[in-house]
Amino acid sequence: MLLIKCPHCGARAQTEFSYGGDATRERPAPAAVTAEEWLDYVYLRDNPRGPHLEWWHHAAGCRRWFKLRRDTATHKFVP
Ligand SMILES: [Zn+2]
Repeated sequence: MLLIKCPHCGARAQTEFSYGGDATRERPAPAAVTAEEWLDYVYLRDNPRGPHLEWWHHAAGCRRWFKLRRDTATHKFVP
């Protein structure tokens, strides 16, 4: 089982968390976005191998969102 270190609660089991997606994406400004840019933001995702910044939600704990960097090849969390 994967242990995830919540910055507020400490290390907890993976079952308490939900994955929130890529934390490197920034929402485009609504007034300046084209349909293609919005499509890319909403639906298209990269599938990187190696360290990747991700959103995590401690759904069964403090219910806070936070970012962690995880190596997608090893599933280990890295600083
Ligand atoms: Zn927590």
